[in-house]
Amino acid sequence: SQGPGLPETRSTCPYCGVGCGVLLRPNGAGGLAVRGDPAHPANYGRLCSKGSALGETVGLGHRLTAPRVHGVETGWDDALQLVADRFRETVAAHGPDAVAFYVSGQLLTEDYYVANKLMKGFIGSANIDTNSRLCMASSVAGHRRAFGTDTVPGTYEDLDAADLVVLVGSNLAWCHPVLHQRVMAAKQARGTRVVVIDPRRTASCDGADLHLAIAPGGDAALFNRLLCAIHAGGATDAAFLRHTEGFDAALAAARADRGETGLSEAEIAAFCRLWIGTERVVTVYSQGVNQSTSGTDKVNAILNCHLATGRIGRPGRGPFSVTGQPNAMGGREVGGLANMLACHLDLENADHRAAVRGFWRAPAMPDAPGLKAVDMFRAVGAGRVKALWIIHTNPAVSMPEADAVRDAIAGCDFVVVSDVTGATDTARLAHVLLPAAAWAEKDGTVTNSDRTISRQRAVLPAPGAARPDWAMLAEVGRRMGWTAAFDYAGPAEIFREYAALSGIAGRLGRDFDISGLSGLDDAGYDGLAPLRWPVTATREGGRFFADGAFFHEGGRARLVAVTSRAPAAQTSADHPFRLNTGRVRDQWHTMTRTGLSAKLSAHLAEPFLDIHPADAARLGLAAADLAEVTSAHGRAILRVRITDAVQPGQLFAPMHWTGETAPSGRIDALVAAATDPVSGQPESKAAVVSVRRM
Ligand code: SF4
Repeated sequence: SQGPGLPETRSTCPYCGVGCGVLLRPNGAGGLAVRGDPAHPANYGRLCSKGSALGETVGLGHRLTAPRVHGVETGWDDALQLVADRFRETVAAHGPDAVAFYVSGQLLTEDYYVANKLMKGFIGSANIDTNSRLCMASSVAGHRRAFGTDTVPGTYEDLDAADLVVLVGSNLAWCHPVLHQRVMAAKQARGTRVVVIDPRRTASCDGADLHLAIAPGGDAALFNRLLCAIHAGGATDAAFLRHTEGFDAALAAARADRGETGLSEAEIAAFCRLWIGTERVVTVYSQGVNQSTSGTDKVNAILNCHLATGRIGRPGRGPFSVTGQPNAMGGREVGGLANMLACHLDLENADHRAAVRGFWRAPAMPDAPGLKAVDMFRAVGAGRVKALWIIHTNPAVSMPEADAVRDAIAGCDFVVVSDVTGATDTARLAHVLLPAAAWAEKDGTVTNSDRTISRQRAVLPAPGAARPDWAMLAEVGRRMGWTAAFDYAGPAEIFREYAALSGIAGRLGRDFDISGLSGLDDAGYDGLAPLRWPVTATREGGRFFADGAFFHEGGRARLVAVTSRAPAAQTSADHPFRLNTGRVRDQWHTMTRTGLSAKLSAHLAEPFLDIHPADAARLGLAAADLAEVTSAHGRAILRVRITDAVQPGQLFAPMHWTGETAPSGRIDALVAAATDPVSGQPESKAAVVSVRRM
């Protein structure tokens, strides 16, 4: 459907945190040709299957095109006045913590900024949290404990320049495919070795030199073993350790750790030899580390090893958290989590709160964290949160204990959902449904996993009455009485304000400073090329921490004493299997976009259950049978795949499917809402379940 002669527009892929640049060419009839942007520093023209199929997903058949109140189409005026009135009345009657926003890593930075400003500065509650809590909150918490800020030290170029890439809890080949392509290119060009640490044998193992089939939850124990080996082998960097504190306590805890790795001594020794013996090592970690009741400790166990060896912030060296969603990083930067302030300022710090409040001329500012995702929906279920606005996400399917979350939303006094479609399980529960502009219909910025800020650009008209999210949020802010604070002409003006606020953060000693962009005019914003933060008068991009300057008071990094912990739920006679959940190559989230592409859906057409041959034989299961999988919280009916990619006693099922009829894949209904005590992130990869043949 490529329209000859129509100009191409640069934008960014809306799926994963790699943040690939795309070139979009509309055909003038609603269609779109998409190719990789050869100039974008994330992908240099590469795209994966999902990015390549973007043009197939811009059809309008499923779109929500007008606001609906109690299922009846209405105008914006009535819908937004109702939202503003109900939020104002709820706050007046029950206080600001009786309302909440649950938002998404799909939001553009400008949308996120306005939502966060409205909730924290004007409504006066910190009850704004995001589905990114399910994705990378443990990395945020680990970074903050080690570095004093949520800083990703390295860049994607480090993957090109490494001699060893360790993938921990990351199926990079399927979940961040273009980064995996970069790693494989480095392997070919310079012989980079690849280690995969994952209970499953995934597609990422195909190009790996070593696969360590670690016990679920065993990552911290393994990296504690590595820290001991680093010390025993004399591989610590004494000069760099002067920029840190806590090494002795971290080492003592590591020595005392008796946690299970599930690996042989020979495997552990081989891994330690390789890691210690390779100066240029990047440790990439993702959901397998984060989605755990000990996720923050796992992150710090990894960071400890890089800090102890000084392998951080220099080419080809460093820990590297890869984020799931396209703008998980932007959400972190604007403070769109219940325990953060904008621009990496700290909610717990009175000076930081005063600075943000003063800048916004805000009437209010909470001084304590709000409700993190799991607690937020518990509060909804208990009736403590009485008005809830859910933006671009489907918690009735994607939250742990999803059936209970669905019931909680159904019982809430007032639920607003803004989304591109009204056909999600969550949207069906809304009292007010607001039609949002989709990718390729709206303008703004996103930040990818290596701190590169890129523009998303509008090239298609939004259908019907659909609007960008920032515009809805700002209008509600104005209708709640804060006219000047939310009087934005467009995303460029929001971005300038945000960049100016970041300058204050920079002066307060924070890492996130893009004040060099605060003077950008509209044309400059329109033409903004991808660039990595920080962006100040004196600096653009680069790496952090090679100079040993960290963001804790005193300037030192902190190694954290970690004792590994097994997953919260233990298998039992009733629930003898450990269920791991995750993504497949060609689907995204609950499939509201990728499900529109026939090509993508052809890869794996149904929700499935991977089970080891020995377990299948014991249960009398044959390939393609239907199996009922049950936990204490819910059930799913899945198509059986028999494979030794999973270990005996372990299972894998994808997280994308939502249907209720067999095979039915509402997999998060089975996952317990147990969370990491520091990050609040749920343990999505270690449910305990039973299986039987249907
Ligand atoms: Fe899009 Fe991620 Fe694929 Fe890049 S790797 S094309 S950002 S889904």
